Amino acid sequence: MNDEYFMQQALKEARLAYEEDEVPIGAVVVMANRVIARGHNQTERLNDCTAHAEIIALTSAFNHLGSKYLPEATLYVTIEPCLMCAGALYWSKIGRVVFGAEDEKNGYRRGIGAQPAPWPFHPKTELVKGVLSEDCATLMRDFFRSKR
Ligand SMILES: [Zn+2]
Repeated sequence: MNDEYFMQQALKEARLAYEEDEVPIGAVVVMANRVIARGHNQTERLNDCTAHAEIIALTSAFNHLGSKYLPEATLYVTIEPCLMCAGALYWSKIGRVVFGAEDEKNGYRRGIGAQPAPWPFHPKTELVKGVLSEDCATLMRDFFRSKR
């Protein structure tokens, strides 16, 4: 099992969001080659602008492990995390973050105002980008095209 395999799992979550008419972003948390938590964007259903896939997957992982830190875990998410999620990932001390497609508009690098956010993650967090990025981006494009 590799990063592509687990990104496929995150994509499954993203497709669930799509079916629920939510912006199609999905995430999974993996530890020791096992998915321990899943989440997809639920901002519409929960009427909560913070109900991003990463936040839901992280909360589920904390509950599952009974721990507030995840240094041994990897979070896979289909789209570049926003600054809020990067902050949550920072606090979780997660070992690795793997994302699919970049998000120029809402991604963490956009920062706040004119100030870019160079490295919002924990210093020990390893970041991998671009895994199955085409599949992840296509899902978003299809979604927003259907909204027009
Ligand atoms: Zn987010």
